[in-house]
Amino acid sequence: MKSKRKIPFFNYPALFKAQETEIMDTLHDVMSRGAYILQRDLEEFEENIKKLIGVKHVLGVADGTNALMLSLRAAGVGHGDEVIMSSHTYIATAAAVHFVGATPVLVECGADHMIDPKSVEQAITDNTRVIMPTQLNGRTCDMDALQAIADKHGLIIIEDAAQALSSMYKGKCAGTFGLAGTFSFYPAKVLGCFGDGGAVVTNDGEIAESVARLRDHGRNEGGEVVTWGTNSRLDNIQAAILNLKLRTFIQGMEWRREIAAMYDQALRNIDDLSLPPAPDSDEKHYDIYQNYELESGHRNKLKSFLAECGIGTIIQWGGKAVHQFKGLGFDDVKLPITEKMTSRFLMLPMHTALTDEDVDYICECIIEFYSTDYTD
Ligand SMILES: *Cc1c(COP(=O)(O)O)cnc(C)c1O
Repeated sequence: MKSKRKIPFFNYPALFKAQETEIMDTLHDVMSRGAYILQRDLEEFEENIKKLIGVKHVLGVADGTNALMLSLRAAGVGHGDEVIMSSHTYIATAAAVHFVGATPVLVECGADHMIDPKSVEQAITDNTRVIMPTQLNGRTCDMDALQAIADKHGLIIIEDAAQALSSMYKGKCAGTFGLAGTFSFYPAKVLGCFGDGGAVVTNDGEIAESVARLRDHGRNEGGEVVTWGTNSRLDNIQAAILNLKLRTFIQGMEWRREIAAMYDQALRNIDDLSLPPAPDSDEKHYDIYQNYELESGHRNKLKSFLAECGIGTIIQWGGKAVHQFKGLGFDDVKLPITEKMTSRFLMLPMHTALTDEDVDYICECIIEFYSTDYTD
């Protein structure tokens, strides 16, 4: 099916066009006020996120990676501490742990691509301090199982919820389970700004106060330096853009869930594919589909076929789990389930600028691929 239709994996210009006037008005307003650092729009944004996900404190920071580092530092995690995470995560999750002086310990994930609680428990040593689950692809992990392990072994949980704003487990939002949770507003995230952005969320007053100081050169509310800090603030202009985008955020998540339901409906009978859990297939989870990551036994051929059809797909993290990058100290780590997955996973287009026709076309192309002789 060689058609003229072009469906990029992500469509930044379309998202700008959809709100062009409001975006330009917002920029004009902020710049006319000369309001750039720690201003009203940032405070409003922090209030908006508190309401959206039901959490006491929100601190806008420079990006999702800094959000992780500041959370760890605020929790006092550092040299000698081990932090357990899934190897199927962004390198930033592990890098944040490395840069606070602690050691990332990588474990397996389950069929839904989320961290495997059994694998977590097996990795615990006397030095383990933190479980850091990644709320991957817009799904929240089985937080009951992780909390039970944390309680049993006296560990804290810090969630990397960069991909899961408003995703829920048993009606509770990702980011609000642990001592702290972190978000990224990288442009392709479900809530994306025009550059880098992030946030730390917490229900703990001391963690909130500590992150507020760490992100602003160690200064307290009076502007006095009271500890070592750094510069990691969310730009006010990005916060203003995010406030604008939040007005249509819930609709966007619903549309993503509909797209996921359409993919599921059209592709569920193809034996060679293993699809993400469908929306509402499990009453505990409310997934918001940051990504639609499936597995295929013929992933590379499928990817090339879809490219010929004009459809952009992506292999997350370049097809490598964290332990598969050489030279980072994981050369002896073996995670067979994750390794099999990284050779099979592929992400289909998933964003709010997709139309019904786009989704139908993508599904038709995949069905066509599987009706040809696709085996090697
Ligand atoms: C995007 C992402 C991050 C990092 O966010 P940045 O804002 O790019 O620093 C961390 N973890 C996960 C799982 C992510 O997807």
